[in-house]
Amino acid sequence: MRLRKALDEVRPYHPPRMEWELAADRGANDYVKLTMNELSFGPLPEANAAAVEVLARGNRYPERDSAPLREAIAEANPGVGAENVVIGNGSSEVLVDLMQTLDRPGEVIFPWPSFPLYSSAARIVGLTERRVELDTHHAVVLDSLLSAVGPETRAVLLCNPNNPTGTHLPLSEVREFAAALPQDVLLILDEAYYEFVTDPAYPGSHELVLESENVATTRTFSKVHGLAGLRVGYVIAPPKVADYVGRAHTPFSVNLLAQAAAEASMRAVGSIAERARFMAGERDRVQAAFGAAGLEYVPSQTNFILARTGPEVFEKAGVLVREGEALGCPGWSRISLGNSGENDQLIAALS
Ligand SMILES: *Cc1c(COP(=O)(O)O)cnc(C)c1O
Repeated sequence: MRLRKALDEVRPYHPPRMEWELAADRGANDYVKLTMNELSFGPLPEANAAAVEVLARGNRYPERDSAPLREAIAEANPGVGAENVVIGNGSSEVLVDLMQTLDRPGEVIFPWPSFPLYSSAARIVGLTERRVELDTHHAVVLDSLLSAVGPETRAVLLCNPNNPTGTHLPLSEVREFAAALPQDVLLILDEAYYEFVTDPAYPGSHELVLESENVATTRTFSKVHGLAGLRVGYVIAPPKVADYVGRAHTPFSVNLLAQAAAEASMRAVGSIAERARFMAGERDRVQAAFGAAGLEYVPSQTNFILARTGPEVFEKAGVLVREGEALGCPGWSRISLGNSGENDQLIAALS
């Protein structure tokens, strides 16, 4: 059997230290899980109802092209048409689909530390990777990213705001960067957290996508929508790129329940905006508490905060956070924000 050498170095995704292990260590199961940037709230009631309603039609294949969901996404992003949108089984799937559209051999470039999927996906599709280090303030240096672009570069991946640092670039800087990129290099923006951004200088990048031929943005229902378990994400791309993503895409990868729940959640614009506002308020509160406790942290625009401490201080108090070394940030922890009670417990761990 001849297996692909390129896969030798791909490491399957490992979830954070198993919660039940840690809970067992403590002889308790009343721990707070702040490890994976999930939302602590379940799906919106309307999303729940929509999924239940379609379940009885489970004998039929779902919509091949997810037309109603794509329409809902288009309506929520002024100027975007359904032809700009492709749905996937999580934004992870559309990120891989996007990479599948790139000519090979070739290379993708991304800042580091960032989302580990970029590295494994590049290898899986047969591209090489080049990482460009963040600066000492955990910020992306666009000049360094631009100088790394060469004739082999097929795409630049920019997670904005960035996971695991929570830092972001204003849209004006992203726009300038896009304009400076060679037109045959695709700029892929991963906006998994854009709904949590409160800086008015970052309204999301769909307008930039519409004015470009080589910019695409991926978003997800796993974070602010609270649907991580249902696996739905999407890309907004110029028509030609969207067309090619559709060609690379596995048919029917998003199931009936997920499509129905995501569509209902997308249409509940007010409730989702309210959740985002709540999380931003909690972010302010937790950051203030970190500051008061003398804990160094990176000011965040997301639903998580990178703080300069090991996870033990929180684990002792029954709060599980993500240890930073595995994310490229040794000595730091990435702490997802929970609901009010969970965040109270997080803050209490510091005293
Ligand atoms: C959570 C996250 C995603 C979402 O992945 P899904 O496959 O949609 O669940 C994408 N990108 C980044 C950077 C993330 O942190």
